[in-house]
Amino acid sequence: MQKTFQVGAKTFVLDQAKAEAAFAAKKVINGRATMTFNLLPLKYQWAYDLYRKMKANHWEPEDIPMGKDIEQWRDEKVVSDVERWIIRMGIGYFSAAEGIVGDNIQHVVRELVTAPELKLVLGRHAHEENIHADSLLYMISSLQINPHECEAMFEDIPTIVRKNEFVTKTSHALRRDLDLTLPENKKLLAKNIFVFGQCMEGTQFYGLFGMVLSLYRQNKFPGIGQMFRYTLRDESNHIEVFRNLFMDLVDENREIWTTEFKEELRSLMREAVDLEKEFINDCLPVNSIGLAAEEFVTYIDYIADRRLESCGLAPLAAGVKNPLPWLAEMMDIKKEQNFFEGRVTEYQKASSLNVAHDDEL
Ligand code: FE
Ligand code: MN
Repeated sequence: MQKTFQVGAKTFVLDQAKAEAAFAAKKVINGRATMTFNLLPLKYQWAYDLYRKMKANHWEPEDIPMGKDIEQWRDEKVVSDVERWIIRMGIGYFSAAEGIVGDNIQHVVRELVTAPELKLVLGRHAHEENIHADSLLYMISSLQINPHECEAMFEDIPTIVRKNEFVTKTSHALRRDLDLTLPENKKLLAKNIFVFGQCMEGTQFYGLFGMVLSLYRQNKFPGIGQMFRYTLRDESNHIEVFRNLFMDLVDENREIWTTEFKEELRSLMREAVDLEKEFINDCLPVNSIGLAAEEFVTYIDYIADRRLESCGLAPLAAGVKNPLPWLAEMMDIKKEQNFFEGRVTEYQKASSLNVAHDDEL
């Protein structure tokens, strides 16, 4: 079917069939290669919806006051050495981790997927990792922590080194020009998306989220806690982006979804859980008020199983109960009224564009 536009002396003919063929060629991988970023018509509606949700949650670190945190950091009577160590580990680990996630999106996943709306949401995802990295820089400079300390933490703390190696080993082999028509390579990409979304952002981030937000609940480090809350809210969207990407990739490439492959993914999660438990014991070598290492360890078993199940995989520690039910509430920032929420609401109003595509060419 063709549609003709007569404008003055000129005639333009648009070909619906050609456009439909281009749409049909939209795929997670091995789709139509184009530089025109043809978002419409959307095939992966979830990607556009998540892009808008993420945009509406936009935040900037320097909008969050750090005065109280600075005061508490210096006061021996208010915070203990263990509590200060948790903050140091939080800043040290995430400074490396946010960068690794952003790098993997930009150089691996966004390069290899072909549908433009997937690239759109991945671009936003990578930008949010920049915001998170910047928020850590802001915390470090506010508390006047020696910036070399931060680099030293991910070189010298073995449990951080091991967590970082665990994820980067699924990333290095995948850069550019990978032949994704081969099932082995499809599996490598699926593994990368699973490890980054479900094992790292979905599970290994939660030990420290739990600990820092436990302190926040005790009114310790309110600025850092607030930034971690915004980060946790962002991460929940990142986990969803990577979960949807993983499910659609598997759906479009059923040949990789074998029993062996499912077991391989489960054992990667097992490895991630073990590394995280060791790491928690380094963050919290002695229990502190309201902070018991055992609870965070159990939480990791709990959250890892939720991630596995969300990807259609069998749990590892089935039946574990959530020992930190308050953690989910920490993401629910919308209910609060504070100076900052005014801005978040404004962003949400600004993005009320509605894309419908019932109009034929
Ligand atoms: Fe992040
Ligand atoms: Mn993230």
